[in-house]
Amino acid sequence: MKKLIAANWKMNKTADEAVSFMKEFQNLVRDGKNADIAICPPFTALSAVSAELKKSNIKLGAQNMHFENAGAFTGEISPLMLKEMGCHYVILGHSDRREMGENDSLINKKVISALKHGLTPILCIGETHEQRVKDETQDVLENQLIKCLQNVGEIKKVVIAYEPIWAISKGNPNQKAATKDDAEDAHLFIRKLLEGMYDEKSAKETRIIYGGSMKPENAKELLSMRNIDGGLVGNASLDAKSFAEIVKSAK
Ligand code: PEP
Repeated sequence: MKKLIAANWKMNKTADEAVSFMKEFQNLVRDGKNADIAICPPFTALSAVSAELKKSNIKLGAQNMHFENAGAFTGEISPLMLKEMGCHYVILGHSDRREMGENDSLINKKVISALKHGLTPILCIGETHEQRVKDETQDVLENQLIKCLQNVGEIKKVVIAYEPIWAISKGNPNQKAATKDDAEDAHLFIRKLLEGMYDEKSAKETRIIYGGSMKPENAKELLSMRNIDGGLVGNASLDAKSFAEIVKSAK
C-alpha cells in the first residue's frame, strides 16, 4: 500500500507563511508520486493552502472538527465547513486535544460524522510514558480503538495514527522517536485488533501510520517497517526541506 505522509502543523503558520511553505515544498517534491501527502494547517490557513493545491495531488486536512453540521457551538468548525474548504482528511483524537478534555466517546462521534461527510479521519491513539512503563500499552490501545470505532463500519476509510505520547516532540527537535521495532510491534498489535474487530482483508487494507518525532534522520527506517503505512509528522513538517525529505524516504 502507498504510504501516507501527513503534516500536522498544530498552531503554527499564518496564511502567508503557509503559502510560502507550499510554494517551496511543491517545488521540492515535484510530482510527489512515491507517497500520498496531506497537509493539515490551522483552520485559518485552510483556504490559502487549498488555493495552492488546486493542480496538485497533495491533499488538504484539518486538525479537528465538531461532529454537528451547525449550531450554537462557539469556536467550533463543522464537517460541512471543512468540506467547503476542500479538506480530504481530518485529524481526530490527537493527544493535544485529549489533554484538553476530549474523550473516546466524543472522538467516536467525530469519526462517525467525518465518514458521513466523506472526510477521511486520521484517528490518533497512543499511550503515555507512565502507561508504557506499567506495561499497559496494549490495553490502552485496545480500549481506545474499541471506543473510538464503535459503530464504525467502514474501517478502510479510516487512517489510524499510532502516536505514543512519550515520543511526541512538543516542538523539541531532540526528542527521541519510538524505535522502529517498538513502533512495528504496536502497529502489528493494532492490525491484529482490527482483524478481530473487522476481518483480515479490511485490517490489511487499513492504513496505520506512525507519529512521534518522525524526522529526516529516522523516517526511512520507521517507514521501512512492514506494518507502518506512513507518518503523521508534527515539528519536522514545519520546514519544507525536512518534510520533503521525509516524503522522499517513503517508498
Ligand atoms: C504530532 O503531534 O502529531 C506529532 C507527530 O508531533 P511531532 O512529530 O512533533 O512529534
